[in-house]
Amino acid sequence: MGVRAGMLMLSMVLVAFGLAACGGAEDEPAEGEAEPPATDSSDDGRDEADGEAAEDDEQSSDRADDADPDPERDEDAADERDEGSDGEEAAAGNELPDPAEVEANELGHVPVLMYHGIVEEPADEWQMTPEAFREELEFLHEHGYHPIRTVDLVRGEIDIPAGRSPVVLTFDDTLPTQFDRTDDGEVDPESAVGIMLDFGEEHPEFPAVGSFYVTDKRFDDPEQGQEMFAELHELGFEVGNHTIGHQNLGTVDSEEVQRQLALGAEQIREVVPGGDVATMSLPLGVWPEERELARTGAHDGIEYEHEGILLVGSDPAPSPFAEDFDPLGIPRILAQRGADGPDASFMSEHWLEWLEEEPGRKYVSDGDPETISFPEDDAERLDPEHADRANPYEP
Ligand SMILES: [Zn+2]
Repeated sequence: MGVRAGMLMLSMVLVAFGLAACGGAEDEPAEGEAEPPATDSSDDGRDEADGEAAEDDEQSSDRADDADPDPERDEDAADERDEGSDGEEAAAGNELPDPAEVEANELGHVPVLMYHGIVEEPADEWQMTPEAFREELEFLHEHGYHPIRTVDLVRGEIDIPAGRSPVVLTFDDTLPTQFDRTDDGEVDPESAVGIMLDFGEEHPEFPAVGSFYVTDKRFDDPEQGQEMFAELHELGFEVGNHTIGHQNLGTVDSEEVQRQLALGAEQIREVVPGGDVATMSLPLGVWPEERELARTGAHDGIEYEHEGILLVGSDPAPSPFAEDFDPLGIPRILAQRGADGPDASFMSEHWLEWLEEEPGRKYVSDGDPETISFPEDDAERLDPEHADRANPYEP
């Protein structure tokens, strides 16, 4: 598929979501399967052995920050986590605040934000400036968000402090403006990862966490690009499947759909330790004719099985505990700030404001990953599958 066809498809997708057609931003990566040998590479100084540890550390150490409006509550949460943040202990200890006190609402919406290029001069609304990206992180931080990965949302493993709200930052297309190294091997401070790491250092309660959806574009680095998946994983990010060749899955046969996804998963598994490729994002948001193949399939003995599938567009995702949550069709919001005109109502600036406008719209954690707390009047929104964990309360 040529760039022109890709742009046309992009436009069709945008129209489908009610957006006016805009220029397609996505480069079509050349398809190729050259696999550079995996080499051991050092990280940028955050020397956690693996992503899980990195995240636990971040989550356990981020409570002492004085930016929180209620330091006492925060300290309690920190104690819980320092003892090991598993649910049993959290439930056993009586240190968590009353869900009503923090207005816990674990049936509220979760914004899943979709980023592409982070560039100084955006060519269209799919790209964002580094300044706008920082501004968005500021907004999220100020409004009580705590980043999680797509896989955490899909599995309903939302282990964040009481009173905070999950947000998922997703990055498609393995672009160098998302993750790059300077000549001396440091993470490029102007790349999305660099900006998130800096922000997380300044605001430990908003750690650098998110999900990257990769193709053989590999950050435009044919030599080290695949190894950079492992580095992302070590930094605590999720690395997910975006097909090997950024293929529009609606235009190819079932065999090619499976080849694209199997090779896409394989290039991650080859370098990410224990890397189960749990989630994928559909290139251009287009389903294959046989939808089930987006979830699972095989090519040449290589299997893949996704627990979560991300769409392109358009609004905040339901809570993973709500009846209308579909892990195999998670809506994403086009991240953009400062846009005007009718398109602006499809972008993150608009939706993040919308979530603030009325209480109850946004997911707010009770601090205990095992229980699902919500105002009792919302009970009918609960997926009955999770009834045994439900904790309705009188607001
Ligand atoms: Zn893409």
